[in-house]
Amino acid sequence: MPSYTAPIRDMQFVLHEMLDISRQEIPGYADLDADFTAAILEEAGKLSSGVLAPLNLTGDHQGCRLENEVVHTPEGFKAAFDQIREGGWTAIDVAEQYGGQGLPYLMHTAANEPMVSANMALNMYQGLTHGAYSAIHIHGSDEQKARWLPKLGSCEWTGTMNLTEPHCGTDLGLMRTKAVPQENGTYRISGQKIFISAGEHDMAENIVHLVLAKIPGGPEGIKGVSLFIVPKFLVNEDGSLGARNGVACGNLEEKMGIHGNATCVMNYDDAEGYLLGEAHKGMRAMFTMMNEARLGVGLQGWAQSEVAYQNALAYAKDRLQGRAVTGAKNPEGPADPLIVHPDIRRSLMDQKSFNEAARAFTYWGAMLIDRSHKAGDAEAEAMISLLTPIIKGFLTDKGFEMCVQAQQVFGGHGYIEDWGMSQFVRDARIAMIYEGANGVQALDLVGRKLAAQGGKPMMTLIEEIKVFCKENAEDADFARDFIEPLKSASKDMQQAAMFFMQNGMKDPNAALAGSSDFMNLMGHVCLGWTWARMAKAAQAGLDAGTGDRGFYETKLATGRYYMARQLPATKMHLARIESGAAPVMALEADAF
Ligand SMILES: Cc1cc2nc3c(=O)[nH]c(=O)nc-3n(C[C@H](O)[C@H](O)[C@H](O)COP(=O)(O)OP(=O)(O)OC[C@H]3O[C@@H](n4cnc5c(N)ncnc54)[C@H](O)[C@@H]3O)c2cc1C
Repeated sequence: MPSYTAPIRDMQFVLHEMLDISRQEIPGYADLDADFTAAILEEAGKLSSGVLAPLNLTGDHQGCRLENEVVHTPEGFKAAFDQIREGGWTAIDVAEQYGGQGLPYLMHTAANEPMVSANMALNMYQGLTHGAYSAIHIHGSDEQKARWLPKLGSCEWTGTMNLTEPHCGTDLGLMRTKAVPQENGTYRISGQKIFISAGEHDMAENIVHLVLAKIPGGPEGIKGVSLFIVPKFLVNEDGSLGARNGVACGNLEEKMGIHGNATCVMNYDDAEGYLLGEAHKGMRAMFTMMNEARLGVGLQGWAQSEVAYQNALAYAKDRLQGRAVTGAKNPEGPADPLIVHPDIRRSLMDQKSFNEAARAFTYWGAMLIDRSHKAGDAEAEAMISLLTPIIKGFLTDKGFEMCVQAQQVFGGHGYIEDWGMSQFVRDARIAMIYEGANGVQALDLVGRKLAAQGGKPMMTLIEEIKVFCKENAEDADFARDFIEPLKSASKDMQQAAMFFMQNGMKDPNAALAGSSDFMNLMGHVCLGWTWARMAKAAQAGLDAGTGDRGFYETKLATGRYYMARQLPATKMHLARIESGAAPVMALEADAF
């Protein structure tokens, strides 16, 4: 059975040595000293490795079961979910007035990491609830907030997001679910939603669905979509549960992974619903919480890669096959462990150097969200909007790739279910698809985010990298290993952006044919920059002589690996982008 240990030292390094969080001028951050965050992360780690991880395989093997409109979750899930609730883990960043701890979103993100690594399917029940909480928190009336938020914050009631319909996924303007206004101000919702995560289950007494639907007579297409709160059980004036509402799970999808999470067909039949935010502004309401939701999915991608890596590493040290080409490393044994082989090392370094940078980049993204929400910093808001497609798209693409690499370390055993490596691959795969498929993330990056505010956020990013490079060019070794590769990759990114500017207007296909390459190119630059920042912090740790030399030296060596072996990918992506649309669009549809 696979195992998991929360990488607390690395998490703490990012929070305190790279991001220096307790000195940031963001409300609530001054309290986040190293002892405080360590206490939270260690407890989250214990719960994750002791309770959640052992249930991961059970969840995968048993899956969910639908009987008489009730979905039964795998054995042990409910008890574990109770422990998550009772420990207050669902309410870390929930406002104090709604019963939460009111900590920054960054702390929610960091404490969430081990739970996602340990059991992604189980964690999704609280993840979606967090999304519903945020939507109501931002867009709800005072009465709606008072009614729904305390129970969603504590996860006594769980939440869902209902966008997808059989004929509409990416193109939500095609939506057919309708919401008919009633004289008492409520709406009657009818239609079918598919693929609804946590749509029905046996772990909470009520489920609060957030549903996108069209009010008849409203604008055509996406502009006519509104957002509604539709509970499974109606709620009485005194807060007690009332009659069952007209919403039920019609079917459970059989799927590739996350078997412990119920993916439901939800049928709405004249269900009572309450408008959330303004009529016909449902997409806007969804968008305001998109950065958070997508950051959460990005984290799923690399959190699976982290747990897969931990198991691949243990296996590579244990499994004896062949001899090191430079001479036996385990002469008493029949063979050397896999880890002596350079190609296995390459694979482990790929995984390790990705995971650590992805963690730091995501935590920084969470800090930008706090800066934007808690300190009202518009630049931080613009920056996280620009980076969201990278966090969601690039980190989940790479996270999946790294899970496959970790599986590969196991050879044939990686393909056998009992080892659990196949589950990491299967579970990680969905993060590339939902919350906006990754091709659409790339489209969003090139089509909207790059040109947002006349390109200002992109120029700010480039400038920040430039300033960092200038300020850290003095140490010759550091400059050679980190600054020069970063400068070169950043130039590739600027050249690619320039190509889009020069060609995108006259031939939009030229930009869109290169969108996935650009997401990759920019993703590498972002992780390269993150590595340079981490390396600087590690060097400072070494210079301070705090006695943690092994950690800092390992950090620097891992960073050098990323700069030397991963970052050069920007050159390939640039060449592809500059080849334009012609090679991509050369064939007519019927010539394929
Ligand atoms: C396990 C699971 C859980 C899910 N959970 C939820 C949930 O809780 N709530 C919810 O509402 N939905 C959920 N979804 C649905 C998910 O968000 C959608 O499947 C996803 O958004 C893609 O929509 P689609 O499947 O209709 O694909 P389509 O929109 O048909 O797209 C198919 C492919 O075409 C690409 N594509 C589409 N348009 C363009 C374009 N203009 N340019 C370039 N490429 C394009 C896409 O990137 C994709 O690769 C879930 C799905 C699964 C499988």
